[in-house]
Amino acid sequence: MHQKLLNWYNQNARILPWRVDVFEKTNPYHIMVSEFMLQQTTIATVIPYFNRFIEKFPTVNHLASSSVDDVLLLWQGLGYYRRAKNLHFASQQIINLDFFPKSYDELLQLKGVGDYTAAAIASIGFNQPVIPVDGNVKRVWSRFYGIDIDSKNIKLISQQFTLLMQGSEAFAFKISQALMELGATVCMPKVIMCNMCPLKKSCKAFENNTMSEFPKPKKLNKPKQFDLNLFLVTDSQKQKIMIKKNPEQGLFANMYFLPSNLDERVECLNKDEDCLLHQFKHILSHYHFNVSVYHSYSKDDHSCFNTDKEVYHWISLTDRKKYSFPKLIAKALDAL
Ligand code: SF4
Repeated sequence: MHQKLLNWYNQNARILPWRVDVFEKTNPYHIMVSEFMLQQTTIATVIPYFNRFIEKFPTVNHLASSSVDDVLLLWQGLGYYRRAKNLHFASQQIINLDFFPKSYDELLQLKGVGDYTAAAIASIGFNQPVIPVDGNVKRVWSRFYGIDIDSKNIKLISQQFTLLMQGSEAFAFKISQALMELGATVCMPKVIMCNMCPLKKSCKAFENNTMSEFPKPKKLNKPKQFDLNLFLVTDSQKQKIMIKKNPEQGLFANMYFLPSNLDERVECLNKDEDCLLHQFKHILSHYHFNVSVYHSYSKDDHSCFNTDKEVYHWISLTDRKKYSFPKLIAKALDAL
């Protein structure tokens, strides 16, 4: 069966920047960067970010010797910014080790690297016989065996597929990518193209015509709703705006942000209903923000904002591209 899967992959794999040639082994650093970016994010969104990232940080040494701010600036708009911080930290761990870890267990020690990412780097980057289990692989497994998925059987999925592919160890890096590719392009959630599938002769769901019953849909938690008031605080010439850097923990950690109603010093602002500039919705997977953007002048220049914590500072509007703002703030800034 693995030969059929490999043949199918050789003929059908999409060319991606981190998979430049499907017949060649891949660069582990490229795989690490792509896997961090692909967490919760689609391939189409990731490609331009990946290309810019590799251009700026071509090796793990370049990344490790950069600042977190530089990394966040390039990550701007990709969301889930903790991934950028973790990737930066992991690159420094690798430099301190003096070698790029190859095994699943060693890779798990890197910051931000969980079961899936460790297996993906080990398998795709270093040709280790371990199958990474992402959403695509889970779906293929569920249909192939005609079994529903629960959170406990991720290890089982990896072990079963690894056993099934025994004999193809020389091509472990391809087998992993082939299973993911099959889920992404043939065995998709709603469109299921069994006639093009190299696994169909042994697939339980295909045999029983129950493909659409597996895997059973998960109940999703309702996202939390937030009303967020943002304040574009300018000087009187509207040449400068006031921004702050978020703390190292929490949503939008380390990113630059505008004063908001979630801020303890919002009383320093003149919120005037007439100054409502813009309203929009911003949706993240677990949070829905109803955003209102107000223009405001600082009450007394910015002395009211200055505290020992040194949170706010003025930047020139023309310099805004030098700061890493989350997409939500970039949208708000467009109102000016
Ligand atoms: S035969 Fe159909 S259901 Fe089974 S793995 Fe292939 S595409 Fe999925």
